[in-house]
Amino acid sequence: MSILIVADVHANLAAFEAVIADATARAGAPLAIWSLGDVVGYGPQPRECIALLRRYPHLSVAGNHDLAATEVLGTQNFNPYAAAAAEWTASVLGDEERRFLRDAPLVVEEGDFTIVHGSLTDPVWDYLLRVQDAGAHLARQQTPYALVGHSHLPLDFYDGGGRDVAQGESLPLDGRRFVANPGGLGQPRDGDPRAPYALLDRDAGRLSFHRVAYDIAATQALMREAGLPAPLIDRLSRGR
Ligand code: ZN
Repeated sequence: MSILIVADVHANLAAFEAVIADATARAGAPLAIWSLGDVVGYGPQPRECIALLRRYPHLSVAGNHDLAATEVLGTQNFNPYAAAAAEWTASVLGDEERRFLRDAPLVVEEGDFTIVHGSLTDPVWDYLLRVQDAGAHLARQQTPYALVGHSHLPLDFYDGGGRDVAQGESLPLDGRRFVANPGGLGQPRDGDPRAPYALLDRDAGRLSFHRVAYDIAATQALMREAGLPAPLIDRLSRGR
């Protein structure tokens, strides 16, 4: 079974649906989904995104926005737009969804993989953006491979190096240790507004990176209707 790797879905259902359709076509078989945190926050359809994730065999770790929306975390570390979105999200979640988010573990080890939102240095808040940041994480990584979210950037770090990952690239599962980020599905920040994701094929021994166009205007219209902050709406068009 191929595994769809998603990070930072951020309640962007149009993007999540487009990614699942693209990944299913590519894999040619039913998928399982691993979510690297922040299923909710920023976007207009948190309940629908949780429901969609739960329709698949899945693993899910908690992100900072998931915990803020369930009021496990306060919003004092959030910028005003993120805080406003977290408050709106908290106001629309049902008890069952709140429980799903709150009960998600911070770190999961599954076979050769560790999955965590931030890093093993700080599962909720640490951003892996530079090689120096990744060193502390890699020193703690017990499995050959790890997958993280949080920075919203498709990146690959390994012992002594790191780089951006381009659409269509694959990382071989050949024992070389890495920690990779598929990119921020629901709110890309690398200048490409298409939704990023990764596909893990354990039989073929590779992790491949992909992008898919989705109906950005549909998500933006729902955000406007919900009264979410304008800068969060605008940035989806730019992928920044
Ligand atoms: Zn995020």
